[in-house]
Amino acid sequence: MKFNTRLLHGKLNHEEYHQATLPPIFQSNAFEHSSAEKLEKIFQNKAPGFSYSRINNPTVDAFEKRVTLLEGGIGSVACASGMAAIFNAIVNILEAGDEILSSATVFGGTIGLFQDLKALGIRITYLEHLSKETIDAHVNEHTKVIFGEVIGNPKLDVLNIKEVADAAHEHGIVCIIDNTAATSFLVQPLSLGADIVIQSSSKYINGSSNSIGGIITDSGKFSWDIKKYPQMKPFKKMGPYAFLAKLRNTLFRNTGACLSPTNAFLNYIGLETLGVRMQKICENALVLAEWLNNQKEIKKVQYPGLADNPWHQIAKQQFQHGYGGLVTIRLGTKEAAFTVFDALKIPLKVSNIGDTKTLVIHPSSTIYAHSTEEEKISAGVYDDLIRISVGLEDVEDLIEDFAQALQQIGKEN
Ligand SMILES: *Cc1c(COP(=O)(O)O)cnc(C)c1O
Repeated sequence: MKFNTRLLHGKLNHEEYHQATLPPIFQSNAFEHSSAEKLEKIFQNKAPGFSYSRINNPTVDAFEKRVTLLEGGIGSVACASGMAAIFNAIVNILEAGDEILSSATVFGGTIGLFQDLKALGIRITYLEHLSKETIDAHVNEHTKVIFGEVIGNPKLDVLNIKEVADAAHEHGIVCIIDNTAATSFLVQPLSLGADIVIQSSSKYINGSSNSIGGIITDSGKFSWDIKKYPQMKPFKKMGPYAFLAKLRNTLFRNTGACLSPTNAFLNYIGLETLGVRMQKICENALVLAEWLNNQKEIKKVQYPGLADNPWHQIAKQQFQHGYGGLVTIRLGTKEAAFTVFDALKIPLKVSNIGDTKTLVIHPSSTIYAHSTEEEKISAGVYDDLIRISVGLEDVEDLIEDFAQALQQIGKEN
């Protein structure tokens, strides 16, 4: 089955739901079982079944199964947010003394989380761009995770997933990829060799910005060397399910990082239209980026779909249906950026991405307000930069709105 058919008709056990066409919201904390023996088996993972919604829940399970299918993994664990997913995926593997090698262009919240991990004794090394060359040069015996985003945000650099995953594996290191900005519509990182993919479902998966969520999907292919990853030892007997079994039975349940059944339902519905939304978003973004690229007021347009973009070739080779919905523009000065930002009438001025509506933000003064100049530069954040998350509007209206906003430069005071 192709992408959209899989989205709509992927495994769902209608009989379990009284023939309902969608998984119902199982808004129940606990699930009763008639005998001590049955409960014992469920708690020991020796029988399928649900016991307590902090651990698993049928609605959440349906969402996890659908994402697993799309990403081509062996299983998923849905979390309360994208940040909870990143925290759980990483800390499930690491311990004090370990190091993460990360792209410097990761999401601002992820940089904040990596800062927090220092208190647990986990160190971070940032690389300007992840490649075989930079990985080979910076890996050491403590490096246990290579982490990157398919499309860095807001730098919009595109990772060569296969190259990065292969380089990680040459050193016996697990490769974790954040696919939030690209989505499985553009690329399935597991099929290119990544071991674990995480996503914030709050963005394109949900699509309408009506619920926060995150999800971790495992390929099951990474071979955990218990000398390098001693925490995996008790779970090694689970074979390909070692990572997921450890996660669900330890950190995930113990930190209470679960997704609520209602949010799982909202994300499940959002997911059904991911393909058609992304198709239109990619089309709009390309038209808008090409138009912006011809405007004299704009110093630089960054969009992987533009032929002159430094990441265009790898994006073209790696992505299936387009180049995503994120575009950035630089206007020369912070004042010009603020003028254009304020003059825009259609886009919502908010800090997130991946909505049905077009969104804009000035990252330097908001999301990166607490970052150092150095961190901002390596993340591709500049004072004169506006990030656009393109939505589903008629693109002619967006162009007209940007045209009038650009004309305001220099007119104020
Ligand atoms: C938003 C986002 C996150 C965090 O997700 P939340 O659901 O907001 O916690 C992580 N990574 C990327 C790339 C994001 O855009």
